[in-house]
Amino acid sequence: MESSGAGERPAERHAAAEAAPGHGAGGVDLDTRLTGALERVGHAIRVALWQQAKEHGLSPVQVQLLQRLSTDPPERRRVGQLAAELDVTQPTISDAVAALRRKALVTSSPSPGDARVQLLDLTDRGRDIARASAAWADDVGAELARIGTPVKVDALGLLLDVIRGLHERGVLSVARTCTTCRFFRRSGDEGPGAVHRCALLDAPLPPSDLRVDCLEHEPVAA
Ligand code: SF4
Repeated sequence: MESSGAGERPAERHAAAEAAPGHGAGGVDLDTRLTGALERVGHAIRVALWQQAKEHGLSPVQVQLLQRLSTDPPERRRVGQLAAELDVTQPTISDAVAALRRKALVTSSPSPGDARVQLLDLTDRGRDIARASAAWADDVGAELARIGTPVKVDALGLLLDVIRGLHERGVLSVARTCTTCRFFRRSGDEGPGAVHRCALLDAPLPPSDLRVDCLEHEPVAA
């Protein structure tokens, strides 16, 4: 079936695909269904971020910055690094940081290693708002709590493989997952019956323990 127009939204394209003949009993292939489901979850997360931003008088990118500054180690709290983490331009981050400074939520100090580089940090009030605005994840967490562990373990593996692929395609600038790490030894590479391993920690990595944002992560050499 042909697309119905240039202004068609993704959800509408998927609805059209659902109705398309010749795609099996469900009318659409599994990959298209999964892509549509991911788009819906992504949309729900954007809505939750918007709600938190509105509640605290911030923009969504300002909320994301507060979240990152509340969890990232000091060496990552630089404008350039944060721009890469959030896949936005450096001027976008600079503008957001300037707004957060005016609201007295963010401060900065010279990096110990290079005084030309400013490292950002939260003020006490910024930390309070970061904690409160983390509520954007509450609804997703509540839904996940209702699902059994084996299903979630499979979903984690699937999503980490998708993240790896998107990182390799250049869609995601930064990924610190086990699946993109040079220390990751996938079970399938080590023979039958083997388990995933972390060569850095020299320890097994059960599928439920695969990391999404590991501090020790090092990318696979290009
Ligand atoms: S260093 Fe971290 S990201 Fe890399 S394989 Fe080990 S646990 Fe995973």
